[in-house]
Amino acid sequence: MSELQRQLSQEILRRRTFAIISHPDAGKTTLTEKLLLYGGAIRLAGSVKARKAQKHAISDWMEIEKQRGISVTSSVLQFDYDGYRVNILDTPGHQDFSEDTYRTLMAADSAVMLIDVAKGVEEQTKKLFHVCKQRGIPIFTFVNKLDRFGKNPFDLMEEIENVLGIRSYPMNWPIGVDGNYTGVYNRKLAQIELFEEDSAHGQRIIPSSQGSVDDPAFAKMIGAETHQALCDDIELLDTAGDAFDIQKVLSGELTPMFFGSAMTNFGVRPFLEEFLELAPSPSPRETEDSVIKPDQEGFSAFVFKIQANMNPAHRDRLAFIRICSGKFTRGMAVHHMQTNKPVKLAQPQQFLAQERTIVEEAYPGDIIGLFDPGIFSIGDTLCESSNLFRFKAFPIFPPEQFSKVQVKDTMKRKQFLKGIEQLAQEGAVQLFRQPDVPGEFFIVGTVGALQFEVLEYRLKNEYGVDILMYGLAYGLARWMQGKDVTSKPIKGVDKNAIVFDKNDLPVALFSNEWALRWAVEQNPDIQFFESPQQL
Ligand code: GDP
Repeated sequence: MSELQRQLSQEILRRRTFAIISHPDAGKTTLTEKLLLYGGAIRLAGSVKARKAQKHAISDWMEIEKQRGISVTSSVLQFDYDGYRVNILDTPGHQDFSEDTYRTLMAADSAVMLIDVAKGVEEQTKKLFHVCKQRGIPIFTFVNKLDRFGKNPFDLMEEIENVLGIRSYPMNWPIGVDGNYTGVYNRKLAQIELFEEDSAHGQRIIPSSQGSVDDPAFAKMIGAETHQALCDDIELLDTAGDAFDIQKVLSGELTPMFFGSAMTNFGVRPFLEEFLELAPSPSPRETEDSVIKPDQEGFSAFVFKIQANMNPAHRDRLAFIRICSGKFTRGMAVHHMQTNKPVKLAQPQQFLAQERTIVEEAYPGDIIGLFDPGIFSIGDTLCESSNLFRFKAFPIFPPEQFSKVQVKDTMKRKQFLKGIEQLAQEGAVQLFRQPDVPGEFFIVGTVGALQFEVLEYRLKNEYGVDILMYGLAYGLARWMQGKDVTSKPIKGVDKNAIVFDKNDLPVALFSNEWALRWAVEQNPDIQFFESPQQL
C-alpha cells in the first residue's frame, strides 16, 4: 500500500458527511449549533442563530451574502469530534426552499431527519425524505423538543412507518413522562443517562450521570413508577419491535431513532456519538458507466451547487464541489469534463463555523467552494486528465410552482433570452415554453418561491432586464410519452397546459393530484412521468 493510499483510507474512514432534513421550525438550526458546540467548533451556543436573521426580501439577502462574502443559505459546516471529521451540509428551508435543497442531498452520505415531537412528520420532511430514499442513503431520526409536551414515542414510530414507509429502531428511549423527560435509556448498553437541569439555557454542554438500568440508585432518582414504566416500554420494544440490523440501516430501510432536545442539549451527545459510529463514511459514487471508489488515488469531484452573484459587479460565483475520490491539494490542476479543459483549483474555500478559510488539503466527503469564472454547471465532473469520466447526471426534481415570465421592454428581448437561458442552464430554474409563442414568454418551474425571486433579481442585476411575472395555478408537471402525444388533444389537459422542456420533450401541467389522476385515467395510451429521466 502506498503512503497516499494509507493516508486516504485513514481520512476516508473518519469522515461523516450528512445533511439534516426537516420541516421549518423543527429545530435544525438549533441542533446544528449544538453539534458544533459539542464538537468544540463554537464555545457558546447562540452564534449560528444569527444566520437565521435572513428572513427579509431577496435583495437584502443578497446584500448579506455580499457583505459576508459567504453563502448564508447553503454551505457546509465542518468540525472534529472524537477523531471524526464531520461535514454538515446545510439545507435551507422556509421560503428559501429550492432545488438547491434537493441537490445538496446529492452530496451527502447520510441524512438526519429531525422531527418535532409535537408535530410528527411534516410536509417538507416528507419531500426531503423522498429524495433521500430514492438515493438509498441511510436516514437517522432525531425526535426533538422532548422538553415539551408531544406525541407518544410509540405513536411517532407508527407515524413514521405509515407516512414515510420506513421502519424505525429506537436506539434510545426517553425516560420520564410527557413534558418532563429527564433522561434517555441507551438500549445497546442497557444504561440510563440522566441530564442535569439546564441552567444556562442550553448555551453550554450539560452534565449527565450514567449507570445501569438495574442500579437501584437510578430507580430511586427517577422514581419507582417511572422506572417501571421504562422497563415495560423496553420490554415491549425488545419483543414487538424490529431487531437492529445495520445492513438495513445502511440501505435506508430502517431508521435508527433518537430522542432529545436541541434546546436544552438533552440527548444531544448520545445522539452525536452513536450517529457518528453508525453513519457511513464516504461511499462510492456512480459514474455514467461504472463506480468511483473514494480510496481511488485519482482526484475526482462533482459540482452540486452554484452560489452566484455574491458581487454583481464582478459576476463572481462560487461552485461547491463534493470530493468523491483521491486527495485534493490546493493549486492542483484537474480536468473539467463538461468544457473539456484543464482547470487549476487555486483558491479553494472551506467553511468553518464562523469564517471561511483557504483549504490546503481535502479528502473524499469534504466540500469546498471554488471561485467559478462562469464555467461550471450543476452536476459537472472534475477528474484527473489521466482518467477521464463523468459522474451520473443529477436527477431532475419535479417543479411544483409555475409562473409565466416575459420581458417588460421588448427592446431587451435579446438580453432576456440570453439571461433566462443561462440561468436555467445553471440550474436556478426550470424553463418550459409553449409551442406557438417562441421566445415571447416562458413558463418557469421551481420547487420553491425563492427561485422566482432570485430569477427576477438576477435578470435585473446581471442582465439589466426587467420582467413581468404571473403566477400560474399549476402544482405538478408530468413528462409525457405515447403515440401522437403532441399532435392530438389530450383529454383533461388544457392546450395551454402543454409545454415543452429544454430538450423539446412534451410536459403536461396540472393543478393538483386529482387533475393528474383524471388525465391518467382518460388517456390510457399516454404515460406520465415525474422526470424526463424516467422516460
Ligand atoms: P429550524 O427552522 O428547523 O432551523 O428551527 P430552529 O432551530 O430555528 O428552531 C425553531 C424554534 O424552535 C426556535 O424558537 C427554537 O428555539 C425552538 N426549538 C428548537 N429546538 C427546541 C427544543 O429542543 N425544545 C424547544 N422547546 N424548542 C426548541
